[in-house]
Amino acid sequence: MQFKHIAGQGAVKQRLINMVNENRVSHAQLFLGPEGSGSLALAIAYAQYLCCEDKQPDDSCGVCSSCRKYQKLMHPDLHFSYPFFAKDKNDTALSFIEQWREALLANTYLSLDIWRSYLDAENKQANINIAECHQIIKKLSFKPFESVYKILILWLPEYLDKEGNSLLKIIEEPQPNTLFLLVAQNQDQILNTILSRTQLVKIPALSYDEIKEELIQNHHQTEFSAAEIAYLSNGNLTEALAMLQQENKSYHTLFVQWLRLCFGNKGPEVMAFVDQASKMGRENQKNFLRYGISFIRECCLLMSGAGSLVHLPAQELETAQKMTNVMNTAMAQAISTELEKAHYHIERNANPKILFLDVSLQIIKILNFKTLPQGTLYIPD
Ligand SMILES: [Zn+2]
Repeated sequence: MQFKHIAGQGAVKQRLINMVNENRVSHAQLFLGPEGSGSLALAIAYAQYLCCEDKQPDDSCGVCSSCRKYQKLMHPDLHFSYPFFAKDKNDTALSFIEQWREALLANTYLSLDIWRSYLDAENKQANINIAECHQIIKKLSFKPFESVYKILILWLPEYLDKEGNSLLKIIEEPQPNTLFLLVAQNQDQILNTILSRTQLVKIPALSYDEIKEELIQNHHQTEFSAAEIAYLSNGNLTEALAMLQQENKSYHTLFVQWLRLCFGNKGPEVMAFVDQASKMGRENQKNFLRYGISFIRECCLLMSGAGSLVHLPAQELETAQKMTNVMNTAMAQAISTELEKAHYHIERNANPKILFLDVSLQIIKILNFKTLPQGTLYIPD
């Protein structure tokens, strides 16, 4: 995780970099920020910066051996602790490390709710148990293996219960070059004994502009929809990203349904789709087409054996895989071209009903009759 991949928070980033460059790194710090502010991502980027072998003035290098391990969250001197749902009293955070890496690599703006969805939670209460506290003490009693620093990032110390007091000694007098980074949301719910032993790094909620910018730059949103989501998410990027997925999900269902109707050349149903799409409004139509273009692109990646580059949620990935059974690269490219053209015309106020009907007919030609839109070229298998 590099600072440049984290939305906004310019002042906090600068402060953290200054601490490192001015040799003012405190051994126990509390990153305190509301959900969706990026506090966990900032703590990881800070740890990566500290251990980077080729520090740049404003970020870690991202390519040295330490950075590469940090980016996979697999550095031997980087440890995580977090709330979990113990099935056994001996369970520790390490029992769930695979799920943790998966969850965090998919979304660094993790919330406890999202984390819960990766675990088999069964309505249990999340906490950081006594076994985990002992594990932390054990882990931190060794010297760093490779880096100058051994770092423990403890997410949500609010869930530490009274058992957290067993950590006091190690927080107060850690081994040399051992750092504690606590990442919390509610100061009131943290044990006072721990609070008083940490240096506070306050992280504000993101501003409306920071969220909007992030959605436009890194999540292909239009000015209009980015503004709308930024407004609704109220400074919480976790929330904003969830809204984005929600929107994508409904586009996904509609888009796949459309392709299926075209593949089956189902006239009346295609007309019903055209009717529905023509009433979506221009911004929505553009987003829908843009979603279709990126979905087809992901299908192309799958077909060309570059599956590791595909970034689709599980359910959409499954559909994409099925699509590759009825579509080859030439067809996908032809469909994509049609969608691009449609997007161009929607932007220029084309009549949506005529336009969606036309695109549907083109897609029927491609998927059902296996001819390219010009109608002259038979698509080879
Ligand atoms: Zn580096």
